[in-house]
Amino acid sequence: MADLLFRQNFFKNRLVVDFSRSLTTLRNNNLRDVLDSNRAWANSYKLREAKFFPKLAMSQKPKIFWIGCADSRVPPEMISQLGFGQLFIHRNIANQFKKEDQSCESTLEYAVHYLKVEHVIVCGHTRCGGIEHAFNENLLPYLKDWVKPIQDVYKVHKDKFKGVSHKEEFNRILVKLNVGEQIRKIAETDVVKAAWAANQPLAIHGWVYHLESGTLEDLKITIDEA
Ligand SMILES: [Zn+2]
Repeated sequence: MADLLFRQNFFKNRLVVDFSRSLTTLRNNNLRDVLDSNRAWANSYKLREAKFFPKLAMSQKPKIFWIGCADSRVPPEMISQLGFGQLFIHRNIANQFKKEDQSCESTLEYAVHYLKVEHVIVCGHTRCGGIEHAFNENLLPYLKDWVKPIQDVYKVHKDKFKGVSHKEEFNRILVKLNVGEQIRKIAETDVVKAAWAANQPLAIHGWVYHLESGTLEDLKITIDEA
């Protein structure tokens, strides 16, 4: 009976544990749907393994630090299919790493020095609004300031845009170059240099997620030592 009940509940909640689907749709902007969905989801885990959440709560040992865009269409766990405890994540507009930004620096320090992740992945994506609006002078002030370094990426690599007239192609190139710029900046940080000096295994990768196909592309620009 208990087994039957478990199976009934498992299959009843099967969609709730399937990360590949969009699980909750807001009806009339009712946030209650989110809370209800969360409760059903948590219960489905408890039914499968009573100690699942208590065990997870004990510690984390992720091997990957993921820097991605804040865009709602690129949730790292879903597109990577990596579950609880496997990704340490920082997200912002256009997946940038900025030396003067405490949020960027502190998450990198925590990931590399304390969690000892072995991979840092900077993941850009196609049709990135941050990239598309990098040259928009009409943005609100903080946003304008935030995306401004992307203009510098363009200026440094201007030659790679020769003959490119289509805006979409322009943005695709800039997305990739922007990822490359971030991994170079990360490789130059004190915490990463110290890790390499101590022979800590650490590689910094550049990836792009293609919204149109749902696939990740390894740009093959990995930096794994100073
Ligand atoms: Zn984006």
